[in-house]
Amino acid sequence: MQHKNFGRNQIFQPSAAYTPADEREVLQILDRHRGQRIRAIGRLHSWSEAVLGDGVLLDLRRLNDIRLQPDGDQFVATVGAGCQIKRLLKELDRDGATLHSLGLITEQTIAGAISTGTHGSGRHSMSHYVVGVRLARYDASTGRAFIEELNAGEQLQAARCSLGSLGIILSVKLRCRAQYNVQEHFTESRRLSDVLDAETPFPLQQFYLIPWHWSYFSQHRREDDRPRSRLAKLYRLYWLGVMDYGMHFLLLSLKRVLRSRRLIRLAFRRIIPAFLIRNWKVTDRSSSMLVMKHEAFRHIEIELFLPRDQLEAALGFAQEVIKVAGGRVSTLSVYNQRRIEELGMQDDLAGLHDHYFHHYPICVRRVLPDDTLISMASGAEDDWYALSFISYAGPARRAGFSLFANFMARSMSRLFHARPHWGKVCPLEAKELTSLYPKFDAFRTVCNTLDPQGVFQNDWTAALLEAEGPAGEIP
Ligand SMILES: Cc1cc2nc3c(=O)[nH]c(=O)nc-3n(C[C@H](O)[C@H](O)[C@H](O)COP(=O)(O)OP(=O)(O)OC[C@H]3O[C@@H](n4cnc5c(N)ncnc54)[C@H](O)[C@@H]3O)c2cc1C
Repeated sequence: MQHKNFGRNQIFQPSAAYTPADEREVLQILDRHRGQRIRAIGRLHSWSEAVLGDGVLLDLRRLNDIRLQPDGDQFVATVGAGCQIKRLLKELDRDGATLHSLGLITEQTIAGAISTGTHGSGRHSMSHYVVGVRLARYDASTGRAFIEELNAGEQLQAARCSLGSLGIILSVKLRCRAQYNVQEHFTESRRLSDVLDAETPFPLQQFYLIPWHWSYFSQHRREDDRPRSRLAKLYRLYWLGVMDYGMHFLLLSLKRVLRSRRLIRLAFRRIIPAFLIRNWKVTDRSSSMLVMKHEAFRHIEIELFLPRDQLEAALGFAQEVIKVAGGRVSTLSVYNQRRIEELGMQDDLAGLHDHYFHHYPICVRRVLPDDTLISMASGAEDDWYALSFISYAGPARRAGFSLFANFMARSMSRLFHARPHWGKVCPLEAKELTSLYPKFDAFRTVCNTLDPQGVFQNDWTAALLEAEGPAGEIP
């Protein structure tokens, strides 16, 4: 049977597929298929090749138990690999607990989310909070499948974000915290420095660079001791109706049905800003405030992680490239054009000219450095900023987006040390990709120790493990 991911950009056909009921059945399947390639999937919400597998496929949705234990003033949850984040949040909430870090949606499984370094804003990625991973793999001496717990050292750091490359994750143990409220309000600003200054009072904020309007809309967010606002329910309805569905429906119609660049520009300059209610301060439960229904409409995304000191230059660069791609101008500023020429990418830029019209706010999220080997926010002292570029073009009409995503990933990795999200469109060659991670060698060593035959790899991860290149340096 064919499997398709959320974005419909990855389609694959495994030779056999199982949905095991428990750990014993996972071991039986592994023993039955010894020597063959085996991969696990979560809910296929990744756009990258991380999900592909043409051998034996395991879907662990039935391994979804949750156990919560107090740990000082915090909690530790042991969660079955296939448990979706939304179910986990519900169960934790019953015990007055929640996750430290959340992405924009809650459809992912816990194993899938940590395996690609899923993150939100103002905290570490989810991987950082993992304290143990229960893994099924093969014993090198007997060749039989067995289970082991990875809970210390580089093996744990590797398991926190492993691209499915160590073995089959059966459950994940992760630190949780007491449930808390978040206060949020929207503001608009023309200057990036104003937006960044607001991080001190609003450490959980995320912001958007609005294309064709070129101002910043910030969701100022901070923890709040006050109870849920009286109008929180109304605010949720506003979000659902105006943002989650209204804005997306508008953009989708303009992009897919009317295909009008002029109207898309008008939407960003006049219509969408008119619907944003500024300075409406609302307090709500964190697990309601920090997420949205971003899965409601099919789309595709590339997200690039930059060190903090590259953020301003990278946003300026992105803005210029979007204008070239949208046909508004034909070259970048003198400075950026020269840098592109130095990289020998001027023909790629010329090929992009007028071929892609960006039509979605560029979301910018701050991610604190992770204690992992290869999550995107790993290996630095300073915070990372993730810039996401989203397209709502239908799956058959994504050639322009592909050109744009390729150009952005290649130019920004070289100019700004930008790392593409492992779970999103990830167009760099293996050597270039791995060289962005100073600890990739350590990750490779853990993979080769736990899976010396490479049976848990797909072609993409195998190429990453084979790529030899200079270990990257954190700028
Ligand atoms: C609408 C949408 C919004 C998103 N928002 C965010 C966001 O806000 N922040 C963010 O960082 N990301 C976001 N993502 C990306 C998403 O969080 C990641 O791609 C995540 O990995 C998907 O989880 P999944 O359960 O669907 O796993 P899959 O996509 O199915 O798998 C991801 C990886 O995990 C591995 N894996 C899964 N289960 C196991 C297991 N049991 N054992 C071993 N390996 C396993 C797979 O082999 C694969 O390599 C979003 C994606 C979508 C579609």
